[in-house]
Amino acid sequence: MTKQRYLVTSGLPYSNGRLHVGHIAGAYLPADTYVRYRRARGDEVRFICGSDDNGVSTLIAARKEGTTVEELTARYNARQAADFQGLGIEFDIYGGTHQPGFVEHHNRLSQQFFRIMYDKGYFTKKKTCQLYDAEAEQFLPDRYVKGTCYHKKADGTPCAYPEAYGDQCESCGSMVDPIQLINPVSTITGTTPEPRETTHWYLRLDQFEDPIREWLESKRNPQDGSPPWRETVLNFTLGQIKQGLPERAMTRDL
Ligand SMILES: [Zn+2]
Repeated sequence: MTKQRYLVTSGLPYSNGRLHVGHIAGAYLPADTYVRYRRARGDEVRFICGSDDNGVSTLIAARKEGTTVEELTARYNARQAADFQGLGIEFDIYGGTHQPGFVEHHNRLSQQFFRIMYDKGYFTKKKTCQLYDAEAEQFLPDRYVKGTCYHKKADGTPCAYPEAYGDQCESCGSMVDPIQLINPVSTITGTTPEPRETTHWYLRLDQFEDPIREWLESKRNPQDGSPPWRETVLNFTLGQIKQGLPERAMTRDL
């Protein structure tokens, strides 16, 4: 049997608290089991993970504890690494998006990605209106803002979920444009934000529709011996492309 090389990763836990059973059962135990299986077969495996130190929830937790994001994330990152080790889940690397020794590497790589895409002309620059918290003196992307969902449910009635985040509504599952939220509230200060103009870089996903469609179509009958994708999954993803892929913001104000 030929030896194969595998890279296995698990979703990054936020470094804003201790790990709980849900983390372990949901993401890390299945990955650890798979890594052990591959290694037992003689395959070469790298198992990489680390904490997500850049989440909004982390910023909010740091403010609550009266400390800095750096101190809070370093403390919980070390705690998580110790807990994983105690459970016998052994990563080759357990880093963190903003931990010393890793953040320099991440900065360099993300800038490299950005420059390559810029050189290829994949970005477009646009002026848009976004929500601004005058008290915190910052714009409110993603989960920095909450409000009532403006989407309609499948039966045509309004979703109206009052706790929708600025990136997604957890009730109807739709993507959210924060500026369209009804009664928006800043998750930092609890105040009502105001719309302000700002300039951002957007990735023109429409340029990738053809190659992605071709790649997806190839999954009906894969030539590499892997099983075909389920029709429902393929129909959903191909349907998204048929609708046209939207431009996606690649920068944000913080
Ligand atoms: Zn909704």
